[in-house]
Amino acid sequence: MTDYAVIGAGPSGLAMARALQKFGIAVTGYEASHSVGGLWDITNPRSTMYDSAHLISSRTTTQFSEFAMQTTADYPSHRVMQQYFADYADAFGLRELFRFDTRVTAVEPADAGGWLVTAAGPDGETTAHYRGVILANGTLAEPNVPNFAGEFAGEIMHTSKYKHPTQLAGKRVLIIGAGNSGCDIAVDAVHHAASIDMSVRRGYYFVPRYILGRPSDTLNQGKPLPRPIKQFVDKHLLQAFTGDPVKFGFPKPNYKIYESHPIVNTLILNHLGQGDLRIMADIERFDGHTVHFADGRHDDYDLILLATGYKLDYPMVSKEHLNWRGMAPDLFLNIFTPSFNGLYVMGMVEASGLGWQGRYEQAELIASYLHAEQHDPQRAERFRDRVTLQPWPDLTAGYKYLGLERMSYYVNKDAYRNAVRHETHAIHAAYAEAASH
Ligand SMILES: Cc1cc2nc3c(=O)[nH]c(=O)nc-3n(C[C@H](O)[C@H](O)[C@H](O)COP(=O)(O)OP(=O)(O)OC[C@H]3O[C@@H](n4cnc5c(N)ncnc54)[C@H](O)[C@@H]3O)c2cc1C
Repeated sequence: MTDYAVIGAGPSGLAMARALQKFGIAVTGYEASHSVGGLWDITNPRSTMYDSAHLISSRTTTQFSEFAMQTTADYPSHRVMQQYFADYADAFGLRELFRFDTRVTAVEPADAGGWLVTAAGPDGETTAHYRGVILANGTLAEPNVPNFAGEFAGEIMHTSKYKHPTQLAGKRVLIIGAGNSGCDIAVDAVHHAASIDMSVRRGYYFVPRYILGRPSDTLNQGKPLPRPIKQFVDKHLLQAFTGDPVKFGFPKPNYKIYESHPIVNTLILNHLGQGDLRIMADIERFDGHTVHFADGRHDDYDLILLATGYKLDYPMVSKEHLNWRGMAPDLFLNIFTPSFNGLYVMGMVEASGLGWQGRYEQAELIASYLHAEQHDPQRAERFRDRVTLQPWPDLTAGYKYLGLERMSYYVNKDAYRNAVRHETHAIHAAYAEAASH
């Protein structure tokens, strides 16, 4: 039995490999695609990137602390990001730890303890035995496709299949959903489609990329304002910059700011102001090329683009091993199974502004725990006791997140990073204490 397997060489898998490397823990990585970078590599068949995509969070709040991005752009493109991950992997010799073009098909408990990982790759099907497995196979790959009443006679496409605006050329396009991808694609569509409408169920809060010339997510860092004050101030501040989205045709949000992921895109508001697209109500039903909306309006379309998000999916491992509860696995800090069965999840965390460093901190906590398990089992046991015997920390910072699928593993960045760092420090402090005796 070798040490640990990591599934995926995206930002999370690379962070995990790097943390294990620092702790001197042997790791074998599996990556279904031909290279590193995960969904930021648009040539990865599972990538849900599109040609016009750029970082939504800004460079300095997103990059790994130990590896600055070599660009002056505040919001670099996906191509720059792909190169960044390639450079990161090369700088620390991480590629050598991965088997590329190798898809993990099954992760099963071994009779002798540990886990059997079966994978299909250039060497055919192989099975190897590991002490534990870290799943870093991404959260934004499996499309969430809702059911609609009626039949649509045109083309229906999920945003995961959208790559380039030429796919929209000359078409009457309806985008369903206004997440960050939906709004980016609407802006693309304005320049290529014959017409463009967007159907939404609820209102949204819009954040400009820049406030007073600075990337907006670099403001109010370090010491966040108390939640009610932040919600009041930011709502009014943002509206002062962007205008009231209701005036542009969006419904009034029936929730407070930061209770759902904000949209970091104000170009769409400009285009609404120019009359380049329309906001429509929720879908009532399809009938041939006609779409009927809940407010009684209807219109004809050639292409429906589902910006309806993604579902968590860990198809290689049976749900019971990941303690699934409803829409997501119920894991300590979104990482550790309460049974400590040797499975760990990286990157199953959505937050405004977590960045790669937030993912690296997850990896550091896992590596710290695994190191303690191997070198000081009592320390590892204390960590397990904290997880199994004490209440889990509140990761919401008091925000009442919407009960949506995509919010089922959403956290407040500051509450989350503080909790992860706290646990890592507790494990290390335990070492320091042991060393002093
Ligand atoms: C358009 C867009 C913009 C975004 N912008 C931002 C942003 O600005 N800031 C931010 O923090 N996040 C952003 N994100 C979120 C994004 O999910 C993360 O940035 C990041 O890519 C997550 O990394 P990951 O390694 O967890 O997953 P992924 O990047 O999805 O990587 C998972 C890897 O696992 C591999 N894999 C999957 N299944 C298997 C298998 N069975 N066997 C072997 N390998 C497998 C895949 O091939 C892939 O390489 C954005 C996402 C999208 C789609």
